[in-house]
Amino acid sequence: MRKPIIAGNWKMNKTVQEAHDFVESFKDKIPAANAVDSVICAPAVSLDRLVADAQGSDLKIGAENMHFADSGAFTGEISPVMLEDLGVTYVILGHSERRAMFAETDDTVNQKVLAAFKHQLLPIVCVGETLEEREGGRWQSIVKKQVTKAFKGVKGKDASSIVIAYEPIWAIGTGKSASADDAGEVCHYIRQTLAEIYDPSIAEAVRIQYGGSVNADNIGGFIKQPDIDGALVGGASLNPQSFLELIEEAYNV
Ligand code: 13P
Repeated sequence: MRKPIIAGNWKMNKTVQEAHDFVESFKDKIPAANAVDSVICAPAVSLDRLVADAQGSDLKIGAENMHFADSGAFTGEISPVMLEDLGVTYVILGHSERRAMFAETDDTVNQKVLAAFKHQLLPIVCVGETLEEREGGRWQSIVKKQVTKAFKGVKGKDASSIVIAYEPIWAIGTGKSASADDAGEVCHYIRQTLAEIYDPSIAEAVRIQYGGSVNADNIGGFIKQPDIDGALVGGASLNPQSFLELIEEAYNV
C-alpha cells in the first residue's frame, strides 16, 4: 500500500518571515505522517528556518532544485551537501519551469537524482509533455524518455523511494487541469515503464503524483485513480487554509 504524498511547490514565492508564519499556522493541523506525507518545498533561503520550524511535527520540508556537484565553482547554485546539512527531506528535480527556463535536461536531472541518493535526499522527479506533444500523440514517448533517463544508473533499492510528479506542462498555472482519467492513464503508463526498467514490485512501490492546477475541489478525483498517489501543488499551496483543505480532501478519499 503506497502512502499518499501531497507536496506544495512554492516556486519563487514568500520571504523567510512569510514562510515561517505559514508553517507555524499549518504544521500542527496536518494529518498524521503515518497516513499521508505532507511536504512543503520552499525557496532555498527559507529552508534552514523551515526545517527548524517543522521539527517535532508531521510536516516534511523539501528544496525546489539543487546542483549535482558536492561543491565547486558554480556561482549561485546550492549543493546536495548543503541540503543534507540543513536536514531537508525532499528535493524537486527537473521541474518543467527549470527545463524550459534554466536549461535543465534529462541528463542533468539524472545526475541530480544520483547525487540526491548520495546525500540521503528523496527526489521528486517531474516529467510531463507540452500541449503540442499531447496533441501530436507523442506523450508516451516523451514521458518514457524522461522517466528512463532520470532513473539511469539508479539501483532498485533507491528507485522505489523516488517520487515521480507527472505534470503536463499545459496544465501548470493555467487553471486547466488534466482530467482525472487522462492523468491516471499517464501515471499508469509511467508505472508500466518502471516495471520494464526494474520489475513489477519496484514499480508498485514508487509513488506517482499528479501536478497542474490541483486544488481542494479536484484533488479527490485524482487520488481515486489507482496509479495516482498524491499531488504536487503550486498555486493552491500558497495559502495555509486552502492547502490544508486540499490535504484533508486527499486524506478523506
Ligand atoms: P499549479 O498548481 O499552480 O498549476 O502548479 C503546478 C506545479 O508546477 C507544481 O510543481
